Amino acid sequence: MLAAGSPERPTKEPGRLSKALMRLWMKPATIVANDRLADRFHLITLEGPALADVVWLPGQKVQIAMGSAFTARTYTPIEWNASAGRMCLLGYAHGDGPGSTWVRTVAPGDQCDIFGPRASLDLSRLYDPLFITGDETSMGLAYAATYQAPIRRVTTCLEVGDVEAARLAAGHLGLHDVVFCSRAGHVPHIAAMQATLSEAAAVGASFVLTGNAGTIQALRQNLRLQSISAARIRTKAYWAPGKTGFD
Ligand SMILES: Cc1cc2nc3c(=O)[nH]c(=O)nc-3n(C[C@H](O)[C@H](O)[C@H](O)COP(=O)(O)OP(=O)(O)OC[C@H]3O[C@@H](n4cnc5c(N)ncnc54)[C@H](O)[C@@H]3O)c2cc1C
Repeated sequence: MLAAGSPERPTKEPGRLSKALMRLWMKPATIVANDRLADRFHLITLEGPALADVVWLPGQKVQIAMGSAFTARTYTPIEWNASAGRMCLLGYAHGDGPGSTWVRTVAPGDQCDIFGPRASLDLSRLYDPLFITGDETSMGLAYAATYQAPIRRVTTCLEVGDVEAARLAAGHLGLHDVVFCSRAGHVPHIAAMQATLSEAAAVGASFVLTGNAGTIQALRQNLRLQSISAARIRTKAYWAPGKTGFD
């Protein structure tokens, strides 16, 4: 972990308007831990009085200001302890954007500003078994859904660049019902994901498609061809190549 003042850490001071907006709309929080679970996966814990007494549902999102109210990146809380005023998220530092840099370098004692939690995916109206697809950025959602209720049956299928690292991160979280499809494999991995989707459709699963917008589109098309009713499907793009800051 980098020390405060290291060159990679964002240092830009927010302007006056940005500061005013952050005070009005955002919840200040302090980082209490940044645990690197594996390779680019970081479990980040945030705390603060503003995080107490918050009503949170698994599937909701938060936006974290990256030094300014006008530059935020979106993450999925994986747990929210409203009585302690503490929440955790699983960040994946895919590259060099402000979100990735924050995930990689944020350290205990650092302050940040959070907008939310806000609605994103409403999992409560979907029947079991729940089948979640996505990528590295969706592992937090899989955790939140799996531990939402002890009886909830959740299976997850993630396309990932590094299967070993993803498996290690999932293992640390106690997420065992996850199928990983390697983007680097010889078999086209979208076809492998579609095959797991078809198996889940056969047992009457509900579907939550997240992650890369292009993959969601391909999987959504596959479900349409199988005549799966729209009521059994939720989709939420987390990112798309060449675009920044999805919310
Ligand atoms: C509702 C919602 C919930 C989300 N939850 C999580 C979460 O819990 N954990 C998490 O890690 N992320 C999550 N994300 C995704 C995260 O917000 C994006 O990956 C974000 O773009 C990261 O910001 P950045 O500054 O690193 O990259 P940006 O500056 O936003 O993007 C820079 C470039 O990287 C590309 N890019 C963005 N993400 C990826 C990726 N994963 N792999 C490869 N290229 C990418 C962009 O297309 C762009 O070209 C969520 C997004 C949404 C909308």
